[in-house]
Formats: sequence, C-alpha cells, structure tokens
Amino acid sequence: MTGSTATWRGGLLRAGLGLWLGAAASGCVLLPTLGGPAPALAPAPSIGAPSAGRVVRGVVHCHSDLSHDAKGSIPEIAEAANACEVGFVVLNEHYRHGEPQLSAGPPPEVDGVTFVLGAELSGGGGSILGAGLPRDYDSDVARGDAQGQIDAVRAAGGLAWIGHAEEFLAWDVSGWEGLEVANLHAMTTEAPRLGTFLSGLFCPPGAFVRRLVRHAPRRVLAIWDHYGRARRVPGVGGCDAHANVRLLGPLGLTIGTYEECFRAVSTHLLLRAEGPAGVLEALREGRGYVAFEVSGSALGFRFAAFDAEGALVADLGEALPWRPGLSLRAAAPGEAELRLLRDGFLVAQGRGELRYSPRRPGVYRVEAYLDGDPFVLANPIYLRPAPGPDGD
Ligand SMILES: [Zn+2]
Repeated sequence: MTGSTATWRGGLLRAGLGLWLGAAASGCVLLPTLGGPAPALAPAPSIGAPSAGRVVRGVVHCHSDLSHDAKGSIPEIAEAANACEVGFVVLNEHYRHGEPQLSAGPPPEVDGVTFVLGAELSGGGGSILGAGLPRDYDSDVARGDAQGQIDAVRAAGGLAWIGHAEEFLAWDVSGWEGLEVANLHAMTTEAPRLGTFLSGLFCPPGAFVRRLVRHAPRRVLAIWDHYGRARRVPGVGGCDAHANVRLLGPLGLTIGTYEECFRAVSTHLLLRAEGPAGVLEALREGRGYVAFEVSGSALGFRFAAFDAEGALVADLGEALPWRPGLSLRAAAPGEAELRLLRDGFLVAQGRGELRYSPRRPGVYRVEAYLDGDPFVLANPIYLRPAPGPDGD
C-alpha cells in the first residue's frame, strides 16, 4: 500500500463517517416509511356539544402535471389522497403561458376525492394562491403585481390567499382572504441545507419529514397574529407537493412523494356542504386547522367556545363579542400538548385537553405538539370587544 493510497482510503473513510455522523446529528430516528393513513392515536377527550358538520382531511396547494415543474397525474394524486384518507385536494397550479391550463383540470370528483381548481400566481411582491377558479380562468390577465393577482382572482369568483408568507414582500396589498401559515417547501429551505441533504439520503422518509416540520417558520405565525387583530384571517397549510424533488438530480432518489407530502402538511376542514363549494365555504370561513401528521392522525382535534350554560357559541375561525362566562376549550388526540395563545402570547397550556375562561377580548388560537414536534395549528376564535352602548 503506497502512502498516497493510504491517505486516499483514510480520506474516504473519514468522509463516510462524517456523512453518517451528519445524518445522526440531523435528528434521524428509525421510523417506518411514510405512506398510508396517519396512525390513530388515543382519542381526544370530549369538550362539549359537537360542532355542526364533519371534519375532513384535505390538501391545499398541490401541483399536478398541469404545472410545468410537477410530475404527478390527477389519477396518481387521487390514489395518494385515498391512501392517506385525504378527502379533498386544492390544486394551485403554476401558470403555463399559452396553454388552456385549468380547462384541462380534473372534474369536481375523481375516485371519491373532491378537487378544487386553482392557481399559484407569482408577481411583484410574492405569491398569491387562487382557489375556486373557473375552468376558463386566464392566468395571463393577472400578470401584474400581487394586488393585480388578488383583484383578478376575486373578480373571477375565487378565493385569494397570500402564499409563501415567509418570503412575501407586498404587505400593502388589500383584499386577500387567507394566509398560508405553513408551507412544506418553506420548511425545506428553512432547515439547514446539509442536514436536509444528509437526512434525505440516509433517513427513512418519516424521520426526514419530521425534521422538516420542526423547521416551520415561526415568523409566519407572528404575521398571522398581527393581521388577525384587525380582521379574521383564515389560515391554511400549504402542502406544495410537486413529487419532483430528486436528491441526486438526474440519478433520482425522489423524495417528497404525494403520500409523504400529504402526511407532512394537511388542512382539516369542518365541512357543512359537499363538493368544491363546501370546501371553499369552509376555507373562506377559516373553519379548520393545519395538521402535521407524520407521527399520528390529528382527526378528533377540536377548538371551540362555549357559554356559561355550556352551549357551543363559536367554532374555530369564528368571531363573537367577548363577554364574561365564555369558555374556550380544546382537545387533541394522543394526549398532545396544547398551547392557547392570545394575540400570539401563551395564556394557557394543557395535555390532551385545555379549558380557559378568557378575561378579555383577543385573538385566541391553539397550537398542539406531539412528542415536542408541531402537530396542529388551529384557526383562531376571535373574541372582539363588546359593542358599546352606542353600538360601536
Ligand atoms: Zn407551489
């Protein structure tokens, strides 16, 4: 063995060891591959009278092969949705110039999954997500700035959210009706790059995605709290699934399959009507919560307000005047840790269940954590100052 060979082998050994140590340091734990329905956890305790409607797990901000950079066909997405017990998918497709994009979109239901047509519109200042757009929607009309996109989406009868809030710049826009409070792609870019690369190479998908979820940008939640003080701001979780991330470039190693993404970030809605109209109504009202279900199903989570007699007076996303005797209650499966925040500040904590008598108006929302990892971000209940004697 020559000296140079020994040096070369030593370097290789050190590099390999370094890679494995890096993977270990990136937080890997051995989990099974990430597919299928989220495992059921210990049920959430009852907090009172049930809410009207039924909670359905869904996906917002999904790309199909209607987008230039996504690979999945609609039947493949429907198959993944069924495998993950996802009942609806909101498509937010990138625009392709000169193509009748949404006209080639899916019907309202494919293999039992509700599909809502929409677009992801990029302009000056950031990304606008339009949902509930008509089939003949011409994204070209909105090739302006973010305000132009919002106006065009709303003029077409769609719902306009701020997408990728973590990098949005044009906060002087008006008329937007919701906020993407979590985005899987943002988590990928927020997490340290080397650890992401190594854990993508060496960790099972469950461990890889858990690591990403831990890096959900908290500054977006501060933006949510800020705007919620003036008006209701429905929050959604952006899956941003493309099924096109290849860690080794042309050599493959695809991560971020639809099933993995659907388990990573979903939006559960309390639906009171069927089909795309029911999904859009619940989104418009913010009647739902964002779930990160890598380790278990969040179905059964609740957050609601009750009056002194125990009657249900508000579901998540709703506003009502503050008055004495109100009780805010939350419950989560798996004895998850619950945190109640008022205007962004922690006011109460509980495990599995939480009850709190609000002594003042504010924007109250709940975060749940499972084994220390983000699990649920609930839309707020807005307790507004009671009207004065003059009705103001
Ligand atoms: Zn996207």
